[in-house]
Amino acid sequence: MTVTRLLLLGGTTEALTLAGRLAEAPGLEVISSLAGRTVAHRLPPGRVRVGGFGGVAGLKAFLAAESIGRVIDATHPFAATISRHAATACAEVGVPRLQVLRPAWQPGPGDRWIAVPDMAAAAAALPGLARTAFLAVGRQELAAFAGLKGVRLVVRMVEAPAGALPLEQSEVILARGPYGVADEAALFARYGIEAVVSKNSGGDATVAKLTAARQCGLPVVMIRRPAPPPGEPVPTIEEALSWLDRRR
Ligand code: NAP
Repeated sequence: MTVTRLLLLGGTTEALTLAGRLAEAPGLEVISSLAGRTVAHRLPPGRVRVGGFGGVAGLKAFLAAESIGRVIDATHPFAATISRHAATACAEVGVPRLQVLRPAWQPGPGDRWIAVPDMAAAAAALPGLARTAFLAVGRQELAAFAGLKGVRLVVRMVEAPAGALPLEQSEVILARGPYGVADEAALFARYGIEAVVSKNSGGDATVAKLTAARQCGLPVVMIRRPAPPPGEPVPTIEEALSWLDRRR
């Protein structure tokens, strides 16, 4: 039986689940790839590589050296650079690629969302809206809030930051999801949160903060997703599995 090698770009629950579902698939060998920015608390089954490829050129070299026959990009909707690199590298070397992109969250009745295009716009929206705001973003993304005056930021992070945060007034909460709605509402009350800043990540793991914000009547500064690279993404793991089946 010929064996197809699949490169699975991960760092998400979807990628973990996919790796699990494909672990015993006949005729398929999966290599999961993680950026290595945070300490993975669960590793996917099978072969795992960690760290950047070195841009498009590095990724193309990896595809060739490992005789990769398929790429599934199941990275986070805000991981725009690796998705763009994967699209370019696969197009240039002729390896079929599929992106799994979970649906974005949509506002419902009672939601007070302020849609903004990026982190800088989210920071600009806060003065006048809130004296204390809740942020659940990565360390690199905090730079956009560095110049913000008069707003205390309560920042939830997965890992403790290496040094002081580049923020005027801040408090760090260390936690790893998923979170419940009641816990999120209690946290907002405890810290006197008046607005929530969120990336429109989609999915179930971190949606509780939005439900809690609605229940508490808090505005949400919602950061839109970056545009995905060309090609029709699929929203679910099931569709990714049938894409693979059709190409084997
Ligand atoms: P990014 O900005 O798109 O990527 C930055 C660089 O990191 C890429 O150019 C690539 O380096 C490397 N990289 C990213 N994902 C990789 C992967 N799966 N395997 C190997 N190299 C990877 O990504 P990011 O937003 O920093 O996210 C990093 C990782 O965390 C992603 O895998 C993503 O799925 C996960 N994640 C991100 C978020 C988020 O909000 N951004 C949330 C949860 C999980 P080279 O150019 O050297 O190849």
